[in-house]
Amino acid sequence: MRHSGRQALRQFGLRLRELGQNLLHRKDYAERMGGRQWEDYYRRRWQYDKVVRSTHGVNCTGSCSFDVFVKDGVIVWEAQKTDYPSAHPDFPDYEPRGCPRGVSASWYVYSPLRVRHPLIRADLLQRWRTALAATGPVSDPVLAWARLMDDTAARAQSHARRGKGGFVRVSWEEAETMIAAALVHTIKKYGPDRVFGFTPLPAMSMVGFASGARFFNLLGGSMISFYDWYCDLPPASPQIWGDQTDVPESADWYNAGYIIAWGSNIPLTRTPDAHFYVEARYRGTKIAAVSPDYADYAKFADHWLPAKAGTDAALALAMARVVLNECYLARRVPAFEDYALQFTDLPCLVLLEEQDGALLAGRFVRADDVGRQGNNPQWKTVVYDQNRKAPAVPNGSIGTRYGEQGTWNLRLQDCEDGKELAPVLSLAEPFVGNSDFTPVRATVHFPRFDAESPALRSMDIPCARMKIMGRERLVTTVFDLLTADLGLSRYADQKDDVYASPEWQTPITGVPAEQAVRVALEFARNAEQTGGKSMIIMGAGINHWYNNDLTYRAILALTTLCGCQGVNGGGWAHYVGQEKVRPLSGWTTVSMASDWIEPPRLQNGTSFYYFATDAWRYELLDMKAMCPPALNNGLSNSLPAHPADCNAKAVRMGWLPFYPQFNENPLEVCHKAQEAGATTPDDTIHHAVQRLKDG
Ligand code: SF4
Repeated sequence: MRHSGRQALRQFGLRLRELGQNLLHRKDYAERMGGRQWEDYYRRRWQYDKVVRSTHGVNCTGSCSFDVFVKDGVIVWEAQKTDYPSAHPDFPDYEPRGCPRGVSASWYVYSPLRVRHPLIRADLLQRWRTALAATGPVSDPVLAWARLMDDTAARAQSHARRGKGGFVRVSWEEAETMIAAALVHTIKKYGPDRVFGFTPLPAMSMVGFASGARFFNLLGGSMISFYDWYCDLPPASPQIWGDQTDVPESADWYNAGYIIAWGSNIPLTRTPDAHFYVEARYRGTKIAAVSPDYADYAKFADHWLPAKAGTDAALALAMARVVLNECYLARRVPAFEDYALQFTDLPCLVLLEEQDGALLAGRFVRADDVGRQGNNPQWKTVVYDQNRKAPAVPNGSIGTRYGEQGTWNLRLQDCEDGKELAPVLSLAEPFVGNSDFTPVRATVHFPRFDAESPALRSMDIPCARMKIMGRERLVTTVFDLLTADLGLSRYADQKDDVYASPEWQTPITGVPAEQAVRVALEFARNAEQTGGKSMIIMGAGINHWYNNDLTYRAILALTTLCGCQGVNGGGWAHYVGQEKVRPLSGWTTVSMASDWIEPPRLQNGTSFYYFATDAWRYELLDMKAMCPPALNNGLSNSLPAHPADCNAKAVRMGWLPFYPQFNENPLEVCHKAQEAGATTPDDTIHHAVQRLKDG
C-alpha cells in the first residue's frame, strides 16, 4: 500500500509539472493532447499553385475532362469538370463522367514501377562505348554502330541475351545518339524503308503518336498500324461499309427506342458513358442483353439472352431469319423495303456459278456484263429495273467514285442516264421480264456452318436466265440468296430448312427459341414504329473472337434489314477503342506529314509482324480450312496454298500496303537512275518503273 501510494504521488507530480509546461507552451499542449495540427497537414495536402485542364491518356477513349491541381510541379489531386456543352435541352447532360481508373490515374505518374529513364542491356552498352571510343578522338557514332553490326559473333551473343534482363540506366543523350546512329547506318546500308516504327496510340496521346508518326513518315520509314493489329478494329465495318469504324456518339443511345447490348459490358468498359444507357431506360427504351454471364450490363436489361461464348453468330442468324420472314415475306414493311432497295446491295444481281454439278453464288453481275461500256464498267453493280424492264446500273458502286461526277451517292438513279430506278428485291416478284431475262427456279447450294466438317445444303431459289457476253447465264439477287441462306423457302412445295431457325440455334447458343423470336420481333417492330430507332451496341466480348467478321456481319443483318443504319438512335454502335476525335483532320496532316509528302507510309501491323518475325515459316494453317465448303472443290484449287502467298498476292493487287517495296536500297535505285541519265523526279520514277517491268 505504502509503495503504490508513493507511485501515485509521483505520477500526480509529473502530471502537475506537465500541465504547468503545457500552460506555458499552449501550442505544444494542443498538439500533444491530440490537438488540431493534423488539420494543417490535411490543408497542405489539398493546396495547389496551379490548375490545368487535362484527361487520362490511358487508351480508355473516355476523354473525360478533368481539372488537375498541381503543386510544385507535382499532381496533387484531380476533379471532374462539369462544363460540357449540353447536347440538347431534352437530353441528359454528359456529366457525370469519370471512372475509378481515372481518379487513380495520377498515381501511375509517380509509381516507383514506372520506367522514366532510358534502359539498355549492359553488354550492348559496354560494346557501344568501346566501339565509340575506338572511332578516334572525335567520335563517329555511325561508324561505331556499323562496326557493332559487322561483328556478327558479338551480335549473336547480344541477341541470345534478349529476354534475360540485365538492363542498366543511361542518359537520354547517350540513348538518343545510339538510336540516331543506328537509323543513319540502316538508311545508308539498307534504305529508309527498312526502318519501321510504332508509337503509342492516339487514344493515349495524340501528340505522342503524331510526333513519332511524323518522324517516321519524314524519314522515309513506315508506321505500323495498331487498331487492326490487336483486333479492336471490327473487320466487318470496312467489309460492309468501306470505312474503319463509323458509329454514333454514345449520347445517341438516348435516342434509341430499343437496344440490344451484345458483348459490350458498358458500365465496365465505357464507364463515363454508361449513364446514357441507364437514362435511356428511364425514357422508356427497352433493352435486351446478350452475354454468357450475368454481366453488369445484363442487370439493367429487360431481357437477358445468355448465349454461350463464341456462338453469337448462330443467334444472330436465327434472329435475322425471324425478321426477314416476318417483315419481308409474311407481310411487307414498306419502310424496310424502301431502305433495302436504296441503301443495301440486296437488290443487286449475282451470277450463279456451276461447280461439279452444283450451283453456287458467284460474283456480282457487272455493268460490262450487260453491255455497258462507259466509265469503269467492271466496277459497277447491276439491278433489274422494273421501270425499263431491263437491267440498270445504279449510282454509288465503286466505279462511280472515279471518272464521273454526281453519281457517287445512293440516289436511286441509273448512273449513266440519270433516270429514276425501281429495282426488284427478289426475282420471285411477279414482274414482266424482257426476252433476255427469263425468271426460273433453280437449286442453289450454300455452305453450312454448324457441321463438324465442311458441308453444303441446298434450296430452290428464284433466278433468271440472262444473256451475259452472248452466253446464257443464271442470275439471282442478293436478297434471294440471303433468304435461302437463312433457310426460308419461297415455294409452297418446298419446306423451310431447319438451318438458321430459332430452334436450330438453341442447342448451339443455349438461348431458348421463344426468347430469340421475341427479341427479334420487338427489335423489328420498334424499328418499324420509330423509323429505324433500334440499336445494337456491340463490343470486345464478341469482336475478340475468331471469325469476328462473320459474327458481326450476322448481327448487322438485323440493323440493315430493319432500316436502322444512319438513323439517330438506330444502327450499330461498336465500342472497342473507338472514339470521336475533334481535331482529326489537322492532326492527321501533322502526324502523317502530309504537308510534306503524300501518301502516308503506313504498314498494316499483322502482315509486318508475320513476315518480319518469320512467323510465316512456322505456319501450319491449310488455306482450304479457311475456305467455305462451297469453295473446297473448285475455287480453292486456284488459291495459294500458304497464307503468305495470299498476302503477297494482295500486295501485288494493290489491296495491302507493304514495305520495303524494293529488294535493294531505294537510295541506290535513285543513284542508278541518275547514272543512267535521270535528272528529274519523273525521270527517276520512269527509270525505276522500267527496271521493275524488265524484272
Ligand atoms: S473513363 Fe476513366 S480513365 Fe478514361 S478519361 Fe474518363 S475518368 Fe479517365
